[in-house]
Amino acid sequence: MPMPIPAHVLIVEDSEDDLLLLLHTLRRGGYAPDYVCVQTAAEFTAALESGAWDLVISDFSLPQFSGIAALKLLKDSGRDLPFIMVSGAIGEETAVAVMRAGAQDYVMKGNLTRLTSVVERELREVAERTARRQAEEQVYLLSNALMQSTTMVAILNTDGTISYANEAFVRGSGYALAELIGQHAARLSLNTLSKQLLRGVNAGLRGAGEWHGEVLSRRRDGESFWIAVKLSVIRDGGGRSIGLLLVADDISERKSLEMQLERHAQQLEQMVETRTAELRQAKEQIEVILSNTSDAIALADADGNLVQLNPAFAHLFGSRVSVSIEQILGIMRQEDKVTELAQALLKVIYDHAHARVDTDLEVQNGAVIDADLMLAPVVAADADRAGLVVSVRDISHIKALDRFKTRFVANVAHDLSNPISVVRGRLYLLKAIPEKTAENMAILEREVDRLEQFVDELRTLAELDRGEIVLDLEDVRLNDLLREIVEAHRPIAEQHQQILALSVADGLPVVRVDRRKCERVIVNLLANALNYTPEGGEIRIVLRQGSSGIAMIVEDTGMGIAPEDLPHIFERFYRSATAKRASETGTGLGLAIVKEMVEAHGGSVHVESVLNAGSRFVVTLPLTSVAAQSPMFGS
Ligand code: ADP
Repeated sequence: MPMPIPAHVLIVEDSEDDLLLLLHTLRRGGYAPDYVCVQTAAEFTAALESGAWDLVISDFSLPQFSGIAALKLLKDSGRDLPFIMVSGAIGEETAVAVMRAGAQDYVMKGNLTRLTSVVERELREVAERTARRQAEEQVYLLSNALMQSTTMVAILNTDGTISYANEAFVRGSGYALAELIGQHAARLSLNTLSKQLLRGVNAGLRGAGEWHGEVLSRRRDGESFWIAVKLSVIRDGGGRSIGLLLVADDISERKSLEMQLERHAQQLEQMVETRTAELRQAKEQIEVILSNTSDAIALADADGNLVQLNPAFAHLFGSRVSVSIEQILGIMRQEDKVTELAQALLKVIYDHAHARVDTDLEVQNGAVIDADLMLAPVVAADADRAGLVVSVRDISHIKALDRFKTRFVANVAHDLSNPISVVRGRLYLLKAIPEKTAENMAILEREVDRLEQFVDELRTLAELDRGEIVLDLEDVRLNDLLREIVEAHRPIAEQHQQILALSVADGLPVVRVDRRKCERVIVNLLANALNYTPEGGEIRIVLRQGSSGIAMIVEDTGMGIAPEDLPHIFERFYRSATAKRASETGTGLGLAIVKEMVEAHGGSVHVESVLNAGSRFVVTLPLTSVAAQSPMFGS
């Protein structure tokens, strides 16, 4: 048994029996009638207003009321209720009048079984009418909402013409509604879709039936604006495409913000890139400078730990200063400077000040250098203690030069004062003892010669220092040259009762040298030998071909040179104490000139000597200075 259908029925009936019959018929027809039965117009109106009815079933004629009157009251009330007239007998004309008055049907009391199907039909129709009305109301509400929405909405027919556009669309596009409806969307130049985008849109619509994306559109006045669009295919019940729904939001503002943001981001990125490149370049430059500078440079943190050393620093100090900057204190030679440097370190670290200390340092190989220490703070933004950069410059050569300059001036003054006092004395004697004029003149001449020689030596060294020395090369037979020199000095040797011998090997080649300078070299060496060899001594000059060149040897049996003097005799102005005692006249410049001149020829000079036994000076001129294509010849 199916569940009885509840039905709210307003019944107009005066007969108890007819009412029961009516209810019985409805129940049999499957309804559960919930009813009110009225007999007067007043009762009818009151009941109508108080209940929610599904239908009215009314008797045609009642003592104080009538079906037609009830029908009229119902129509007047404006309610959409099915009205079914039930009557004992009804003529054709009456039936027509009943239907005209708006009743849905009439049923004869003798044929009540028809009532069920009439009720059924009417209730169904009411339900349909209600649903339609509700749908209409909803459509009305929706279209109202759509009209008011800020989202742009349009509906396009399958041929691309616009069939609907809401107010937002009208406002957004700048076209009047009348201009939009019926127009082909493409003709309105509503968008600037690229061909590629259009292909994408079509593919989307053909496939999933929808597409969404962001599009740059153009208003009627030509102004462009960005919209986020969603296009969806509208289909009918059979799935056939009947149009296209376009929903779009104006995203110009967001888009412009986005673009601004992107521009800023790009600018920022560009700036960062440029800055990074600059920094990288600067870093590379600094690294190149650090690794190529001769200054020893180290970076220490605020605790004094060495965090970076350049190659010059590592080379200079090795492991002696490799961990902490304070290790420098341990290799300082001047005790009084230790405190000064310690204070300077504190000043740099805590006061962020620069400092400079000159001191002696013992470096990796044990040598002591004069160092110029420069300390500079490296301050991090948030640190109260600074790290530091230490740069150490070896200024030993500057200091040496300084010392040399002082000594040089003193030496020159000393060497000049001697002959000057001799000259002054002899000038006095010249006037005082006219008969000894010749003797005094001779001494004056000798002193002037010595002065001249001294000045000449000074000038030669100055030329060498300025790098102005030019070799005037020519082919020279050294054996001839030596013979000339020896013969020129023989009177002096004889005067001192010294033996002067020359020994020249056979088959020596002509050499290409500066004749005057070579002569000077030999003369200086020979003069020393004559000078520092006592009477009866022997001086030999030997010329022979050695393994690395032509060797010119000057050896004597003189006073010799003490081992402690040997390393210094080629230095300018250096004279051994024994030499000073033996001869007042030396300047200490002769050997310095010999060395420079030999080296200018690419050769070398060295000495062997035994104190009180003699000395041996060997000058070697390289074979490259041998004249090209020169014939070999004998002595
Ligand atoms: P000078 O001879 O004027 O002193 P030099 O430069 O020629 O200067 O020589 C420097 C020093 O070398 C001399 O003072 C002397 O001490 C030493 N010396 C040079 N030649 C000899 C030598 N043949 N025998 C001993 N000592 C020499």
